[in-house]
Amino acid sequence: MVIALHPGPDDAWLAEAQLGLYTKASRHSGIMLPIGAGLIAAASTEVPLASRLTWFGLVVFLAGANEVLFRWVNKKPGHPLANLRLRLKIYAGSAFSFLIAWCSMSVFLWVPDAPLNHMMLTLILACSLAGAVAMTSVLTSMSVSMFTTHMSFMLLPPLLLNAQPDYVLSGLTLVYGALLIGQAIALHASSTRTLTLERERAGLVQDLSQAKQQSDRDRAHAAAAGRAKSQFLSNMNHELRTPMNAILGFSELIKTKAFGTDIDKYAEYANIIHDSGQHLLTLINDMLDLAKIEGGRLSLREDEMSITRLLGDVADNHEAQAAQSQIHLVREIDFSLPPLFADERALRQIALNLISNALKFTQPGGTVTMFARTDNSGRIIFGVRDTGIGIAPKDHAQVFERFGRSRHDVTIANQGTGLGLAIVKGFAEAHDGHVRLDSELGKGTTLSVMLPAERARPASHTSAKAAAV
Ligand code: ATP
Ligand code: MG
Repeated sequence: MVIALHPGPDDAWLAEAQLGLYTKASRHSGIMLPIGAGLIAAASTEVPLASRLTWFGLVVFLAGANEVLFRWVNKKPGHPLANLRLRLKIYAGSAFSFLIAWCSMSVFLWVPDAPLNHMMLTLILACSLAGAVAMTSVLTSMSVSMFTTHMSFMLLPPLLLNAQPDYVLSGLTLVYGALLIGQAIALHASSTRTLTLERERAGLVQDLSQAKQQSDRDRAHAAAAGRAKSQFLSNMNHELRTPMNAILGFSELIKTKAFGTDIDKYAEYANIIHDSGQHLLTLINDMLDLAKIEGGRLSLREDEMSITRLLGDVADNHEAQAAQSQIHLVREIDFSLPPLFADERALRQIALNLISNALKFTQPGGTVTMFARTDNSGRIIFGVRDTGIGIAPKDHAQVFERFGRSRHDVTIANQGTGLGLAIVKGFAEAHDGHVRLDSELGKGTTLSVMLPAERARPASHTSAKAAAV
């Protein structure tokens, strides 16, 4: 493939690789050729000193100038393709100018009517052409300029200098040139094929390593999923067995009339059985909700509803519990909030989970605030803020996972199962919203649910009822 000095984005890689090969091959010529020029000039004793020095000076000057130019362009920042095109042009231009200086030996060192001198010059240029063709065969444009310049300086001096042409020497030069052209074409084809194969090999290696990384990731995911499954089963085992054992054990006591006529004892144990049954029911409901959320089977029963009334109800129902725990329950509910198009049961469950967490994780004397408002962009934000024990930053992601209890609450007697926030997140996302957690250990926690502005409905009779709450 022939790459011009102006490659397109598709063949830039080939031009870059070809230029790389060329610069590697010509690495030492910037020093070797001036040294060679010095030796040739020194050996040409029959040529006037001024001519020898002029030619040598020209070669050294251009070799030095090119070196400076290469260093500058190699460091130049810029767009890779534009940079490559500039480098190609500078390399080709400087190679051409150096070539003219080098080949001009056949003019500067020419001795009229000295066939030996002419043969020597032709021989030196023929050798340098062979080297140049091997070095530049990879870059067609450079090969062409090397070839034409060498051939011109081998064939033209006798004509230009009005000397008697040597037909044998010129004929041999032409045959030699034709042979070199064939060799250069073959070399170019083989180096281009090698570069293309190398690129394909590199592409294959990259594909293979990407495939390996992907398979490693998949294996890690599968292992994590396996661990999560066993963790889930062991959690469920514990969560189901504990209340079930209480139910079986205490009902056994009642069945066998273990307390004789002590009616109060029976009532006390029946109460425990009832609480355990209630706990089991909540757990089963939570699990069913989570299974639906995770399986993508949650179907919302959306309708126009009042979030202000719902939050008011939930707060009312927890007044007694807050008072018993000596917690100050505050409402910051914006009653001008518009009605929402949402699943009331899901939002109620969100609010219940948030307030029960806040009451559970706040010490006596603390404050729990239930809030609801809109932000500047019309989003509806509601949630619960507390001055409780807070959640450490490292646990922030974990608390939204199934059974994702954070470590600090192991001392809290009234532990839950760790499903509440997973359900809150699932329900919020099912409403195209999301949950935000702001918390600092020892200072408190704010859990906010953001619902998109599109869920708000123009105020109707619902908001009128809400205002009465
Ligand atoms: P469940 O809600 O299923 O009865 P739970 O309350 O332990 O159990 P989540 O509601 O999912 O589970 O909460 C997960 C964990 O997040 C809690 O165990 C607790 O460690 C932490 N957490 C949640 N809310 C708060 C809060 N307001 N203050 C401090 N920690 C909290
Ligand atoms: Mg909870």
